[in-house]
Amino acid sequence: MQLTAKDVQTWFATFTDKIRENKEYLSDLDTPIGDGDHGNNMARGVNAYEESFEQKQPDTISDIFQVFSMAMISKVGGASGPLYGSALMNMVKETKGIETIDSYEQLGNIVEQGLAGIKKRGKTEFEDKTMVDVWEPVAQTLKEGSLNKEQIAQAKEHTKDLIAKKGRASYLGERSKGHIDPGAASSTLLFDALVETME
Ligand code: ADP
Ligand code: MG
Ligand code: MG
Repeated sequence: MQLTAKDVQTWFATFTDKIRENKEYLSDLDTPIGDGDHGNNMARGVNAYEESFEQKQPDTISDIFQVFSMAMISKVGGASGPLYGSALMNMVKETKGIETIDSYEQLGNIVEQGLAGIKKRGKTEFEDKTMVDVWEPVAQTLKEGSLNKEQIAQAKEHTKDLIAKKGRASYLGERSKGHIDPGAASSTLLFDALVETME
């Protein structure tokens, strides 16, 4: 397993496509337990990333993460922008000076640093029914040496059983049960894109 800067570029280009294809789906998930804008927020983020990528032409892994982070922080109005932004900013630091990612373990550590950024920024724990519920098992599985779409889908589905403790969905308490968390769904697209890149 090896990821070059070109592969990371492919990863985020694939994610960008997936966000566009699933924009309505993500906003629909956000309608019963939020304010119905998650697809639009994420689309704004990936559009800004694409534009900034064209301008800046980053060619290291760390710089690509940096461009993505800044796009999410500066262009996404919702809670998800600064949260993805914090994750990516930690991933910038973790990849400073490296040319390639050479093992699942190393990739797992990078994703784990991203996860730590979300948890810190959002004051979130596992099973609060947020994007953390996808990032955490993905980091764990990568560190153990694999990742597949079934595992990611399972983590996303599990958010259905949970009561939201953070974000807008938490206002609903018990009534947030039975719905997939939108941020867990967009994070699924991010890691599905990663799986496709590694194939
Ligand atoms: P907003 O709620 O401001 O409209 P979005 O709809 O774009 O923002 O994003 C909502 C998603 O953000 C949620 O589904 C959840 O995954 C994530 N989220 C919200 N608050 C937190 C938090 N404190 N920690 C982690 N994730 C959070
Ligand atoms: Mg929303
Ligand atoms: Mg909103």
